[in-house]
Amino acid sequence: MIINLLEVFVVLSLIAAFGSIGVASIVASRRSVPGSGYLAATFLGCAVWCGAYAAELMSASLDAKVFWAKVAYVGIVIAPPSWLLFAAAHVGLLPSRRITPFLYVIPAATLVFVVLATDVGLVWSQTYIASSGALDMLVVDHGSWFWLHTVYSYACMAAGSTLLILGVVRQVRALTLQAVVMVLAALLPWVTNVLTIFQIVPVYHLDLTPPAFALSILLMLMALWRLEAFEIFPAMVTIAHHTVLREMQDGVVVTDLRGRILSVNEAAQQLLTAKRNVAGELLEDVLTMTDGDGNTRTLEAAAQERDGLHVLIEGHSAAMIEGVVTRLGRVGSWRGYVLVLRDVTEREATTRALRSSEERLRVLFDKSPVAVFVYDADLRVTECNDLLAKLLGISREAFVGSKLTVANASSLLSYCETALRGETSTFDGPFRIEGGEELWLQCRVSPLFSDDGPTGGMCVAWDLTSAKRAEALIERLAFHDTLTGLPNRSLLRDRLRQAIDEAEQGGTSVALGLLDIDRFKTLNEAIGHGTADELLHRLARRFEAVVRRGDTVARVAGDEFAFVLPSMADTAAALRMGEQILGALRETWELGGHTFTVTGSLGLALYPYDGEDAFELLENAERALRRARDAGGDRQQFYDLSMNLEAAERLEIEQGLRTAIAEGQLDVHYEPQISLEDGSVRGVEALVRWHHPERGLLMPASFIAIAEDSGQIGRIGEWVLRQACTQVANCNAKGGSELRVAVNLSPRDLLSGTLPATIADVLAATGLAPHLLEIELTETAVITELEASCRALEHVRDLGVSVVLDDFGTGYASLSHLHGLPIDKVKIDRSFVARCEEDEGAASIVAALVSLAHSLHLRVVAEGIETPGQAKFPRSLGCDEAQGYLISHPAPADSCPAFTCWQRSTVAIGASSWLSSLDV
Ligand code: C2E
Ligand code: MG
Ligand code: MG
Repeated sequence: MIINLLEVFVVLSLIAAFGSIGVASIVASRRSVPGSGYLAATFLGCAVWCGAYAAELMSASLDAKVFWAKVAYVGIVIAPPSWLLFAAAHVGLLPSRRITPFLYVIPAATLVFVVLATDVGLVWSQTYIASSGALDMLVVDHGSWFWLHTVYSYACMAAGSTLLILGVVRQVRALTLQAVVMVLAALLPWVTNVLTIFQIVPVYHLDLTPPAFALSILLMLMALWRLEAFEIFPAMVTIAHHTVLREMQDGVVVTDLRGRILSVNEAAQQLLTAKRNVAGELLEDVLTMTDGDGNTRTLEAAAQERDGLHVLIEGHSAAMIEGVVTRLGRVGSWRGYVLVLRDVTEREATTRALRSSEERLRVLFDKSPVAVFVYDADLRVTECNDLLAKLLGISREAFVGSKLTVANASSLLSYCETALRGETSTFDGPFRIEGGEELWLQCRVSPLFSDDGPTGGMCVAWDLTSAKRAEALIERLAFHDTLTGLPNRSLLRDRLRQAIDEAEQGGTSVALGLLDIDRFKTLNEAIGHGTADELLHRLARRFEAVVRRGDTVARVAGDEFAFVLPSMADTAAALRMGEQILGALRETWELGGHTFTVTGSLGLALYPYDGEDAFELLENAERALRRARDAGGDRQQFYDLSMNLEAAERLEIEQGLRTAIAEGQLDVHYEPQISLEDGSVRGVEALVRWHHPERGLLMPASFIAIAEDSGQIGRIGEWVLRQACTQVANCNAKGGSELRVAVNLSPRDLLSGTLPATIADVLAATGLAPHLLEIELTETAVITELEASCRALEHVRDLGVSVVLDDFGTGYASLSHLHGLPIDKVKIDRSFVARCEEDEGAASIVAALVSLAHSLHLRVVAEGIETPGQAKFPRSLGCDEAQGYLISHPAPADSCPAFTCWQRSTVAIGASSWLSSLDV
C-alpha cells in the first residue's frame, strides 16, 4: 500500500513535470500574447520543482535527497514572481523593464540560502530523514528567511491572481472564465503546498504539491484548449489599439505635461518629418498651433478649448493640417496630452473645388437662359431662378415656398406629379397663368432622387413664345396673301388636297373655282393701283361673305381668286355657287372717285369627275377659266373633256410655230380699207395666216395668243411687217400706186424696245415710204404700261409712221384717254359697228367717239362692215374709212383686189352697189 503510494507520487510528480514542460512550450510559442514568456517561466519552474521532487522521493540517502530538494528550490523560487509578471503583462499593466528584476531578488537570495543549506540556517535550519510508515522522507526544519520567502511567494501568487481576475472582470465572460480557470490552476499547487508546510497531509512529510501540479496542468490545458485562453486575451484590445494607431491616417502625438513628445504613430511621424525621430523633443520645436484667428495656442489652452487648430509644421508649410488636443490622465492629475493631427490639404482642395463648382452651378442656375424651378415631394417649390419668376410674372420669393397648383402650373401640374413617380416627361405647348398672357413653353420635368427614391423634381423650361409668334407670322406670310389676308396658292393647294382627302373618305365631291377679273390690267391703269388694291381687298371680303363656312377663298395671282368648295352635291350646285360669286363682283363700284363695273370669268372643276387629284383639278379649272375668258368673260364655265384636247392643241401649235417661219408656212392676207367719202381704196390691213401642214389654214385667233405667251410673237411680228412692207412696196412700185399698209403688232412688240429700229430697218430695206405704213395696236395694249407704250409710240411716229388704236371700245380706255395718246387714227371695234343699227347705246358711243376723235384731229375707221346699213351710220357721222367683209374678205396679195386696182376701183372690188346707195 505504502510502496504503491510512493510510486503514485513519483508518477504524479513526473506527469506534473512533463506536463509543465508541455504547457511551458505551448505558451512560449505564442509570443504575440503579452506575458507568455513569464507564464512559460512559471511552468518551467513548476517542471523543475516536480521533476526534482520525483527524484528526491526515489533517492534513498539523505545527501541525494537534499541535493534534489535544492534543485526543486530553483523551480520553487522562479514560479511566484513569474506568475505575477505574467498576470501584469497579460492585463496590460507590465511595469518597466527596470523594475522587473527586483521581483527576483528575494527568490535569488532564498536560492542562495538553500544552496548553502544548514550552513547559514536561514531557510533550512536542519535536514534529516524520518520514517513515515514504510517511507523514508526528507524532513526540513525551516529558518526565518523561509517564512519571509513563503510570504513573498504567496503574495506574488495572490497579487498575480487578483490582477488577472480584476483585469478581465469588466471584459467579456469568456475572459473571466479563462482567468478563473488559470488562477485555479496556478493556486491549486500552492494551496496543497500550504497543507504540506503545516503537515496537514495523509502521509507525514509527504509533499502534496507535485500531484496538485498535475491537476493544475490539466486545468491549464483546459484553459488553453477549451477556453481559448491564448486565442482571446485581455491585451488583444491593447494590441488592436496599437495596430490602429500604426495603421491610422491621422497622426497621434503623445506628450507629457511639459509638451515633450513621448510617442508618435507612423502617420504623425510622416507628417512631422519623415527623417528625424521626434520622440523626446519639445512639441513647440516641431510645430506651431494656431486658432481660427491665427493666435498661437499652447497644448493646455488647446485642450481646454477643444476647438479645431491649424497646425503649422516646420518645413511642411504647404500642407494644411488640423489638430485636436486632449488631456491624458484624470482630473486633478493630468499626465500629458494627445494631439491628433489630420492632413486636410486634399480635403480642403476638394472642398474648395466643390464650393467653386457649386458657385458655378449657382450662377448657371440664376443666370441661365432657361427657366428652372425645383420642387419637393409635396409639390412645393424649393428653388427657382430669376428667369422663371419673370416668366410667371411674380417675385422669386413669392414663388419659392408656394405649392404648385392649377393656377401657377396649369398644364404642367400632371407632368410634375409624374416626375414624383420617377419618370421624366416633356411638355411642349401653351401655358396659361391666371391673369397672365399665354406662353408657349417647352419643358422637361425630371425626378430628383435620394437613396429612398424620388424626393421631388426639377422643371427646365424654354420660353418659345416669341419663336412661336414669329413662326405663326412666318406661316401667315408664307401661306397668306398680304393684301387681302386670304390664303395664297400654297395654302390653297393644301386645303384642296385636304378637301379631296375628306371627299374621298366621305364619298362626296369638291368643286374648285378659279376666278379671273376681266381685263384687270386695264382696269388697274384706269383706276390707279391704290384703288385697284382697295377693290381687291373688298372683293376678298365679299367672296368670304358669299361662300359657306368651311369653304376656302384664296388669292392665287394679281387678279385671280380660287374657291375650294367641299361637299358640292353636283354640277348644278357648283354652278349656283359660281353664279353667286360672279354676282358678288358684277355690280357698279364706286371707289377712289371712279365709278366702274367689274366682271369676272370663272372656271369650275368638280372632284372626282374632273380630276383625280389637286394638280389635275387645278389644271382643268384653269382650262375652264381660259374658256370663260376666251368667250368674252363675265361668265362661268364648267370644265369638260374637250378642254384637255385644247390644251394639247395649244402645245402642238406652240411647237409648230417654232418652225413655221423657216418652213414658209406663214402668209399675209390683206383686207382693203376704203374711204367712206369717195369709196376709193386707201390701203390694206395685213393679217397673218398660217398654212398648217396638218390643220390647214389657221387664223390669227388660234395662234397669236399662243405666240405671245410663248415669246414667239416678236419674230412673227417682224416677219409680217417685213413681208407686208415688201409686198405693198412692190405693188406700189409696179402700179405707181400709193397703197398704204396697216400692220398689227402685239403689246410685246411695242414694249420690246427695238420696235422703232426694226421699223426703220424694214422701211429702209423695202423702200416703203414711212407715211404709207400704219401700225395697229389694240386699246388694251396701249393702256397697259401707258407710259412706256407712249414713249415707244412717239419714237415710231418720229419715223413718219402712223399709229392706229385698234378695237377701240373693248377696253377700259375712257374717251378722255385719247387726249394724250400719240396716235393718228382710231378703229371702232366691230362689236359697236355691228350693234349700232339696233342698239342706241352703241350708236351713241360711236357718235361720241367719232366726234371726239375728230376734235383731236384723229381719223376714224369703222371695221367689220358686213352690211350696207353698217356702213351708212358711220358715214353719216363723218367716219373717215371703213373695212369689212362687205368690201372684201382678207385675201393673199396676188388675189387681193386692192393690189390690182386702187383708188376709184370700188367697182372692181364689188362695192359699187352699196356705195352708190350711200351717195358716194
Ligand atoms: P384686227 O386687227 O381687228 O383685224 C380684223 C379682224 O377682223 C381680222 O380677223 C379680219 O379678218 C376680221 N374682219 C374684217 N372684216 C370683218 C367683217 O366684216 N366681219 C367679221 N366677222 N370679221 C371681219 P383675223 O384676220 O382673224 O385677225 C384677228 C386679229 O388677229 C386681228 O384683229 C389682229 O388683232 C390679230 N392679227 C392679225 N394679224 C396679226 C399679226 O400679224 N400680228 C398681230 N400681232 N396680230 C395680228
Ligand atoms: Mg387690226
Ligand atoms: Mg380690229
